[in-house]
Amino acid sequence: MSEKKEIICPDCGATECIKNGKANGKQTYLCKNCLTRFTLNRIRNRYPKSIKKQAVLLRKQGYKLAEISKELNVKIQTIHYWLKKYA
Ligand SMILES: [Zn+2]
Repeated sequence: MSEKKEIICPDCGATECIKNGKANGKQTYLCKNCLTRFTLNRIRNRYPKSIKKQAVLLRKQGYKLAEISKELNVKIQTIHYWLKKYA
């Protein structure tokens, strides 16, 4: 097993994830971006691209992060990351 394996946060898609101890014998990870804790079997692409595009679009229309968060039901940290990555 390589230590360089990239772990992607299931919540925001960030790769800044660190090992965060074990729960029920399973390695858990902590996303340094949105502070979500997760295990590898939980990893999947949780948000479709359309929601990410929508977030970027709303931001361009002048919406505040908090408003986009409420509108799309996505955490502010997650939206912040999308905007950095996709806008
Ligand atoms: Zn995250």
